[in-house]
Amino acid sequence: MERSLTDSPAVLKGVGPKKVTALNKLGINTIEELLTYYPFRYEDLTVKKLAEVTDGEKIVLKGTVATPPVVSHFGRAKNRLNFSLLVEHDLLRVTFFNQGYLAKKLSVGQEVAIYGKYDQRRQSLTAMKLILQEQEDFAGVYRASKEITAKTIKEIVAQAYENYQDLLFDIVPVSLRERFKLEERKVMIHNMHFPETLNQGKLARRSAIFEEFFKFQLKIQLLKKRQKKGQGLVIAYDNQKLKEFIQHLPFELTGAQKRVVNEICHDLHSDVHMNRLLQGDVGSGKTIVAALAMYAAVTAGFQTVLMAPTEILAQQHAQKLAELFENFSEVNVALLTSSTNRSQKAKATLLEHLKAGEINVLIGTHAVIQDNVAFKNLGLIITDEQHRFGVGQRKALRNKGENPDTLAMTATPIPRTLAITTYGEMDVSIIDELPRGRQKIKTSWLKKKQFKQALDFIAKQLKDGSQAYVISPLIAESEALDLQNATEIYEQLTEHFGPTYQVGLLHGQMKAEQKDEIMAAFKAKKIDLLVSTTVIEVGVDVPNATVMVILDADRFGLAQLHQLRGRVGRGNKQSYCLLVADPKSEYGIKRMQTMVETTDGFVIAQKDLELRGPGDVLGKKQSGLPDFKIGDPVSDFNILQAAQVEVARILNDPDFSQKQENAGIMRYLNQETTNLASLD
Ligand code: ADP
Ligand code: MG
Repeated sequence: MERSLTDSPAVLKGVGPKKVTALNKLGINTIEELLTYYPFRYEDLTVKKLAEVTDGEKIVLKGTVATPPVVSHFGRAKNRLNFSLLVEHDLLRVTFFNQGYLAKKLSVGQEVAIYGKYDQRRQSLTAMKLILQEQEDFAGVYRASKEITAKTIKEIVAQAYENYQDLLFDIVPVSLRERFKLEERKVMIHNMHFPETLNQGKLARRSAIFEEFFKFQLKIQLLKKRQKKGQGLVIAYDNQKLKEFIQHLPFELTGAQKRVVNEICHDLHSDVHMNRLLQGDVGSGKTIVAALAMYAAVTAGFQTVLMAPTEILAQQHAQKLAELFENFSEVNVALLTSSTNRSQKAKATLLEHLKAGEINVLIGTHAVIQDNVAFKNLGLIITDEQHRFGVGQRKALRNKGENPDTLAMTATPIPRTLAITTYGEMDVSIIDELPRGRQKIKTSWLKKKQFKQALDFIAKQLKDGSQAYVISPLIAESEALDLQNATEIYEQLTEHFGPTYQVGLLHGQMKAEQKDEIMAAFKAKKIDLLVSTTVIEVGVDVPNATVMVILDADRFGLAQLHQLRGRVGRGNKQSYCLLVADPKSEYGIKRMQTMVETTDGFVIAQKDLELRGPGDVLGKKQSGLPDFKIGDPVSDFNILQAAQVEVARILNDPDFSQKQENAGIMRYLNQETTNLASLD
């Protein structure tokens, strides 16, 4: 029978149905998967000298059994085996737990090697393994399960390697292997499982990580290329009109805004399908970029839609866009949310106009993806704070048109590390410059007992005609308590600042209309100080607000703190953020310090990532983070980046599939075609 790396492990000797099932559960269905089921750590089994061992280290010591082994039993199934071991000139007390049967194999005067954990103060060794004969110096330890032991896995891997090593072929081209000093695949796999020295293991690991990232990059970059191939809309916008529109703006675009507008317009006009992520820190001016893209699409006769995650945001966008498009009669803006379209009749009319193509700029919450919402010719869709929507919602919006171009905006800066992996299939535009005249927000951290100082500070700012926010503490999983808290603070501050200053309250349990009223009053400066729960979180834009006070700030994550802080510093006045918190944990303290030290969203995102790990930063479910077996996109970022660059270079060569040195890549891709199809 012809052998193949896709054979089931069942072909191996001693691997019956039970073991096959156990292996499947560990994600091992083929010989290939078995051979790349690498140990998750290695035990150093070289014999150590006592002098070089540190406290708590797991090591192998060699010595002579000095006292007769004694077994004591306790409970029904538990026992302990003790004896003294003479190691050079030191006497160590050795303990084995529940391995009493070893007593028969040991006698005074016998030379043995023992693997265990060394306790310096007690001069003892908690033993894990008795080594009677010579064996390897390093041993890989495999993740095992109840159904199959690490030892069995190791034996099966060894057998598979023996029988299939001749079929292993290199995927990474030889020129790259030479340049990056990577091992041949056959050697790499051998040394991942059975290294003879620690260094051998390390080298193999580097090669294996590169290979893993290289394969990943091949897949996503090919997918991206495939998605782009001539299936997008050509949105032939009117450049003259766009220019005039830009001249009408009350300010000049920043260099970064100009750059990303060009990138977007280029995509709109080409027949390539746009799938672009627009990243820009809070206040960097993404909304205007979205407006320009929408206007461009409208001049080409297309409809556009902007979907925002909350009512407040949708409202605000609608208002801003209506203002911007006021003198441009070909643009018809409408807002669609579940609560703002009060009467059924008004809603029905709106939907009709939308279907007839009379409304060409629709703004809304996820209400825009409902079944009864239909467009005439949807050309461009934009999602604000795109990570707040699920994959299904984004897809539903896409299906409202025929492959419309898509732009996703986010103010949650994604560290470069994650951008490569998570948004690998998207093009990324970055606004990395704030509008001129903005001043850095000054952030300080106060202890709770210094709250009075915060109040005095607010008073001074209010006196200068500025406005302020106070964010009430977030109480995990209890909206009722959040509200109670916010209400108490509201009452306290009303007493303190009233009647000279107006204090307002905004919270999540208010009806959308109430929220709008409060926000409108704050914008109109009828409210000077706004106490709010985190409903204020994203996108709210009141340039006259200069103080953001966050109570119990340590209850918030870094990304959220950064978002909240971004509500101030939106005008030309110096703005301030006061964090009031007595954090208990090291992690809480670090977060406060990070906020004080930097206002750069990318730096904060990177810190967040380091403190919490990628799954938590993006939210496990939505992160779409691929499960790498050995590579870590954070700590192995350099390797990931190198793989990305090299794959891009290879795929940019139009003849790449014909080249001898890429034969391994082609073989790999042929094997993976089914998997690739499922990535679509
Ligand atoms: P975000 O990126 O957070 O969505 P916005 O688009 O809300 O930022 O812009 C923040 C504020 O900056 C708004 O008041 C907006 O009108 C203003 N703005 C945007 N671009 C510029 C610019 N180039 N020059 C001056 N002000 C600008
Ligand atoms: Mg915004």
